[in-house]
Amino acid sequence: MAVEIDKDWRKKEESYWEIKKKYPTVSPFVITQIDVQRRGVEYTDAALDKVDPAIHQTDPYGERLAPASLLLRDGTSIITHFVFSTAKRTKNSREPYLVDVVDDRIVLVDDDRIIDEVIYWEKPKFYDKKTSFGTPMQEVVDARPQRFSLSVNKYCHFWDKPGQGCKYCGIGAAGAKYKGCANEQVNSEEIREVMQELKKEKGRFTGVVLTGGSILSGTELCEDELQAYINALQAVGTAFTTKKFPSQVNSTALNERQLTRLYEETGLTSYTTDLEVFDETIYKWVCPGKAAHISFDEWKRRLYKAVEIFGKGQVNTGIVSGVELAKPNGFATEEEALKADFELAEELASHGVGLKHDVWNVVPNSIFFKQTTPSLDYYVKLTKGFYEIMQKYGINTEMDNYRKCSMHASINLDRI
Ligand code: SF4
Repeated sequence: MAVEIDKDWRKKEESYWEIKKKYPTVSPFVITQIDVQRRGVEYTDAALDKVDPAIHQTDPYGERLAPASLLLRDGTSIITHFVFSTAKRTKNSREPYLVDVVDDRIVLVDDDRIIDEVIYWEKPKFYDKKTSFGTPMQEVVDARPQRFSLSVNKYCHFWDKPGQGCKYCGIGAAGAKYKGCANEQVNSEEIREVMQELKKEKGRFTGVVLTGGSILSGTELCEDELQAYINALQAVGTAFTTKKFPSQVNSTALNERQLTRLYEETGLTSYTTDLEVFDETIYKWVCPGKAAHISFDEWKRRLYKAVEIFGKGQVNTGIVSGVELAKPNGFATEEEALKADFELAEELASHGVGLKHDVWNVVPNSIFFKQTTPSLDYYVKLTKGFYEIMQKYGINTEMDNYRKCSMHASINLDRI
């Protein structure tokens, strides 16, 4: 199942250093974020020696522990826990970055050149505590550097029918063990308990994001998913004295009635539902389960309704950038893909919908495990383009900006 590194890949595309020079108005931190997510990382023994499980969030890395993810000096996060699985178990078609230690500093290295210093994500104090049910609190709520994150459902029901999950997604196989289990959905009582501990955390956390696998069942499509979010948000709300609190839901596209209930019955302030691909034909191929239940046009219509309910600047949508070029049914060239991405981005933004993209990591347990991501140049153009379109339509980036999220390269541009 291994995918070999293309030994000539560096000759076929512009390097990190060339791209940095080519785009002087794009933060080098953002370019680093994109490229590390695109290519993945590996750790030297010296870098792993710097991991302290008493301080850092960790993930298994072979026999050892690696940091759960990385932070750059300006607060930009690089999610790596999917990425290093790519680097270790299959092979990306390009070499991953190396995290090493030089002069006692933890640094990112590529082709024997130091890119920058990196910081390992620290864990909050509640991580080592358990709920009264005996569940480690970090399994109920986890933490990114800027916000808390809660998985409402651990299994995505698009995988119920073989081949219907999104083709880039590695969650289907990983979540299958939770399907139909008592703990498939998060326990609201446990959320309440963890929220009391979260209140004691200092400083850096700006809100809570809730997401999870799609639940298709109920009196109408996704009604059970809606109820799961309402229950979870009401439990989160017990830690706040105001009706509304800084929060975001990333769910399957809910209909107008469901969105209204979500807004009115909870303290939720912002909403996102990811179209994943900005081309209808490719959407049907890459996300067949989504397309079978909610058409491309209906997904867009639901986003526009969400803007009416939550307000402009409080709703956005994301793509897994790069899958639009997957073979054989994706766009043939990066130019064609960018054109389509920007056309749909304009349409969405003209209705007040914000834009974000998550750089595609080719994960080993996905249907797309043999694919290759586009060039760094492609990603920088996409990042600039999305940001400029949001500016053009006066859409505030606040709901996912660097203080609240920092995961999305295009939105990260707003602090320059
Ligand atoms: S909706 Fe698609 S990307 Fe999200 S968990 Fe389900 S299969 Fe994966």
